Amino acid sequence: MPTFEEARSSILQQVAPLGIERISLLDAGGRIIAENVTAPWDMPRWNNSAMDGFAIRFSDWQNSPRLKVEGYIPAGGTAEKTVAPGTAVRIMTGAPIPPGADAVVPIEQTEENGGEILINGQVRIHDHIRFAAEDVKTGERIIPAGTLLRPAEIGMLASFSKIFIPVYRRARVAILSTGDELIEPGETAGAGQIINSNSLALAAALSEIGAEPVFLGIARDNREAHREKLSEGLKADALITSAGVSAGDRDLVRETLDELGVESVFWKVDIKPGRPTAFARHGNTPVFSLPGNPVSTMITFEELVRPALLRMMGHQRVIKPTVRAVLTEPVSKKPGRLHFLRVQIKVDEGLYLANPSGDQNTGILKTMVRAGGLALLPAEREHFEAGDLVEVHLLGGGLEMLDK
Ligand code: AMP
Ligand code: MG
Repeated sequence: MPTFEEARSSILQQVAPLGIERISLLDAGGRIIAENVTAPWDMPRWNNSAMDGFAIRFSDWQNSPRLKVEGYIPAGGTAEKTVAPGTAVRIMTGAPIPPGADAVVPIEQTEENGGEILINGQVRIHDHIRFAAEDVKTGERIIPAGTLLRPAEIGMLASFSKIFIPVYRRARVAILSTGDELIEPGETAGAGQIINSNSLALAAALSEIGAEPVFLGIARDNREAHREKLSEGLKADALITSAGVSAGDRDLVRETLDELGVESVFWKVDIKPGRPTAFARHGNTPVFSLPGNPVSTMITFEELVRPALLRMMGHQRVIKPTVRAVLTEPVSKKPGRLHFLRVQIKVDEGLYLANPSGDQNTGILKTMVRAGGLALLPAEREHFEAGDLVEVHLLGGGLEMLDK
């Protein structure tokens, strides 16, 4: 049985970025750009003023702090006329520096009277001038392929009029819940029936990373239903199933996937919760069979499926970095298997604290709701004391839970 790290790297080895599409910059936030982008021109394009004030010749000021005001260059204006000796040109922020000028004096540093200014204080050559290309030079690489497009990157691309850009495709991910006991949320539960919460929880987890959920509904515990729904799911970019992968009589996911020619990679992982997690592939389509227990479904998605889908959508950083947190109470576990401990996260003077969120039984959903993170308790360790440092994966939105 693979360890957690072995399972995760084996999954990551078998997935690759999906295709590329060109989209409008308007829709590109959160996507991964698929090509290097270089600057088609200098930025700024011309020397311009960083302040509202006066463009002057530095040597004039060295002679006298009093200059005659001649001319005005507003933002968006042009500057063809050379600054005459002994004069200052009124200039607005962003306006081009006129020929001859080599400093800008901010308006606050001047007193204006009868068509003249008196400059107070010191002036240095090149003061308050933004020089052409001081930010970006023509041909410079501004955004490398593989970059996540945040507002800063979108702004940079927009400033070079890159309004259509190539990005990696979002993954369309089929979600299939299995089990005779399941009904959909909103339906009235009869005796023994369980509401299918996993499909919607998985859909939310997919949305969180920018993937598109495709709902396949529920496959009942019979071969025909499994065959029909699973083959439908194999048409998506990836398929996630929940339940039906343990050794129970009616756990048909594995058998049916075999029949459909899906190639099994592993059927169990040495983790708790989430041991009966399977991974298989059908051509380029990865198939993740997650355990049915809602807590296990969410944790195995977070730890094993999420990195794979991020890679498929072109992300470079697919494994969440852990943060180190101080455990607030002792915890014990059996040796041999890595445990994911649901923890509340607190920040105390900048230090993360990990507070076990309560009953860690996989049947307890409430402690997942309370959790801001998952502490990774190493396989071989048994006892953890209050004050020990543990590695934590913060959950999406986990820091929103700080005061809860
Ligand atoms: P299984 O993996 O089929 O043994 O299911 C484990 C537990 O998870 C059982 O209590 C199921 O009723 C429950 N379960 C299975 N599928 C779902 C689902 N889609 N939504 C919520 N609970 C589920
Ligand atoms: Mg079942």
